[in-house]
Amino acid sequence: CAKNHGRGVRRFFEPILAAQIRDRRAVEHDLRHAVERGEFKVVYQPQLAVDSGIVVGFEALLRWRHPERGTVPPDLFIPIAEETGSILPIGEWVLRETCREAATWEKPLRIAVNVSAVQLHAPGFAELVHEVLFTTGLAPARLELEITETALVRDPVRALTALRRVKAMGVRIAMDDFGTGYSSLSNLRAFPFDKIKIDRSFIRAVDVNRETAAIMRAVLGLGRGLGLPVLAEGVETSAELAFLGAENCHEAQGYLLGRPGPMAHFIEHTREAPDRGEAAA
Ligand code: C2E
Ligand code: MG
Ligand code: MG
Ligand code: MG
Repeated sequence: CAKNHGRGVRRFFEPILAAQIRDRRAVEHDLRHAVERGEFKVVYQPQLAVDSGIVVGFEALLRWRHPERGTVPPDLFIPIAEETGSILPIGEWVLRETCREAATWEKPLRIAVNVSAVQLHAPGFAELVHEVLFTTGLAPARLELEITETALVRDPVRALTALRRVKAMGVRIAMDDFGTGYSSLSNLRAFPFDKIKIDRSFIRAVDVNRETAAIMRAVLGLGRGLGLPVLAEGVETSAELAFLGAENCHEAQGYLLGRPGPMAHFIEHTREAPDRGEAAA
């Protein structure tokens, strides 16, 4: 009876699984052609200094406009692109596109680009960064690469070598999603980070949740001790922002301060922000 039942379940699910596998293959295939078909675009989210409210930079976030599926979120397609290796041409496109765009900005603001573990470990990563900076004319100090901790554990020696080489060019390195990976503290010591981006799960309700507040204060203290600025991601309420101000968090990013959008939306912002800062000072 159990056997029959199992067979029934299998008969029911097999078509669904087959459809899922076909779907996954289709996504893998489409990802291989998405760059040449011009289906990617980059949106930008502002990063602000908490004390002054000045926009200090932007994070580049990738969007895939699929002709039939509509906009596919990165959390869905990046892991697939990493598995198939498509992330290499895609990541190169993002880097080139954002550096090219940032080089045209009136104010020399920072541009943060997410880099996948696969990119960091691929041969020639540092050379690629160097070539893109040279080709686009972007000052290396304006580029910040966001790396997650999981990107480091795969092959720490290789990761460290790649990071040291891009740092030697003057490019900055931020640890992304801090607190969600593992061995965070030893990674902070072993790798040449310039900034800690604390994951957005640690900001949610920080103003009312004592545990969350304790973790946030500890990370800020860690940053101070190590001489690393801390950016809080995912700030959605003014109470969360007020907490960050009271605790001397350096930078913040989140829907409250600006949703990711096309650069055209921010052109006025990048032009005016430093003037506003001078007026406030
Ligand atoms: P991330 O690098 O941690 O980026 C921050 C994510 O949080 C973005 O999601 C952003 O839209 C979202 N976010 C910002 N403020 C808020 C907020 O106030 N509330 C909430 N709920 N969310 C907020 P997005 O754009 O969907 O990207 C998701 C992840 O995909 C990124 O996380 C990053 O890991 C990856 N990703 C995005 N673009 C790229 C890329 O060009 N290359 C690589 N390798 N990964 C990328
Ligand atoms: Mg990021
Ligand atoms: Mg993050
Ligand atoms: Mg993330």
